[in-house]
Amino acid sequence: MIKGAGMDAPAGGGDEALHAAYALATAFLASLPQRAVSLVPTPQEMALALDEALPEHGSDPAGVVGEWFARAERGITASPGPRFFGFVNGGATPAALAGDWLASAIDQNAGLWAGSPAAAQTELVVLRWLQELFALPGAWQGALTSGATMANLVGLATARQWAGRQLGFDAAADGLAGRPPIIVAGSSEIHLSAVKCLGTLGFGRNQLRRVDAHNGEVDLDALAALLRDIDGPVILIGNAGEVNSGHFDDLAALADLRDGHPGGAWLHVDAAFGLFAAVSPRLAHLVRGIERADSVAADGHKWLNVPYDCGFAFVRDGALLREAFAVAGAYVAGGAGWDPFTHVPEMSRRFRGLAAWCALKAYGRAGYRALVERCVDNAGAFARWVEATPGIELMNPAPLNIVCFRFVRRGLDGAAHDELNRAAVRAIQADGRAFVTGTVWQGRAAIRAAFDNWRTTPADVGLLQEAVAQAGASLSA
Ligand SMILES: *Cc1c(COP(=O)(O)O)cnc(C)c1O
Repeated sequence: MIKGAGMDAPAGGGDEALHAAYALATAFLASLPQRAVSLVPTPQEMALALDEALPEHGSDPAGVVGEWFARAERGITASPGPRFFGFVNGGATPAALAGDWLASAIDQNAGLWAGSPAAAQTELVVLRWLQELFALPGAWQGALTSGATMANLVGLATARQWAGRQLGFDAAADGLAGRPPIIVAGSSEIHLSAVKCLGTLGFGRNQLRRVDAHNGEVDLDALAALLRDIDGPVILIGNAGEVNSGHFDDLAALADLRDGHPGGAWLHVDAAFGLFAAVSPRLAHLVRGIERADSVAADGHKWLNVPYDCGFAFVRDGALLREAFAVAGAYVAGGAGWDPFTHVPEMSRRFRGLAAWCALKAYGRAGYRALVERCVDNAGAFARWVEATPGIELMNPAPLNIVCFRFVRRGLDGAAHDELNRAAVRAIQADGRAFVTGTVWQGRAAIRAAFDNWRTTPADVGLLQEAVAQAGASLSA
């Protein structure tokens, strides 16, 4: 026991803090159906609530937990609740949340086998279950990451390693400086996280060759024409679920282009949420061909409905993956089993696999199929309502779980329409019944609603419709 302020509490003090957290957590979860989704506080309000100097002396841990909640509550978004339709979020299921809590309590270092054989073996099993869930080849290797951005990074780092090998060097060992540039191509709709990764990995954000996407789907003729002008190896980034309206590139056609490129090509697919189409026989056609990719990135904290942070990457060539993230050193000499940290950027890691294990075990393939189909049905119902409602138009009919729409008014020009829709997003958020976010779709301000939360019911979709309709009416007035 460390003697000093706040840390010399009696042995029972830790329990009291856990009980305090439990009471706050269960009350919060119970409030989700009624709670305003967001109170949209200003940065000034939040600074006023929370900013203070570092405490010189500690205080009772149970009290600290309660104090934080009370002071921060105005800024807590009900994003795990049933009516948060912004960005692409999920909401932790009971099994996932319980697993996540336990992971914090047992506080394992899931970086290497020797740190926690239980964590390493659990992650291996989770990765295999995910491969089975998504019908990805069992021989692929993977890693759990903090989200899809890091999963994109893992896939693209492996692609970089492959491209270096094609050009005669070891990219991870020797770097890209002084080497021929490695060309990366994708559609104009690839996710900004993939672009961010190109910066992190030394390709350069501006090196991406973008080809047009019609209605969100890459123009294959334009891509083929681009490839004809490139002699060397190319990394192709495909979209399985474009973030504004949920459209898919034709992955099988991308795999054909990859196979036909004389200089060699690598196909990386960003399937952050789109991979979940694979769990439903009704929707699996959307990801046809994904099993021919070289690497695939997806999110856990979206449609798997596990808590932040969780994503996963899969690559066909595990040896290249390990080359990209190899570590050498006596200090961490390989253990008897699998070392996750030779497959990801980090070394020490959170045991995020436990939440995923609990969720997959508790709900199984059938549970996830039902969850995905329910979300897609909710999205379809909302899209039909948009189409049937005067003054609102669907911007791009959704094949999956994202509905992109906007308000239209006779006599408004483009700029006024954009302002109307930005104001509508603010009005819907401020109303608190439902939360949607804005975007720009094909040059026009638009509104998105994403459906990937296990809690959302048709009644919640009804409340979303009411909030949208009311915002529209108030803006016309
Ligand atoms: C959300 C998302 C990402 C980024 O994922 P994070 O989990 O936020 O890092 C990447 N690509 C797509 C298509 C996404 O929807």
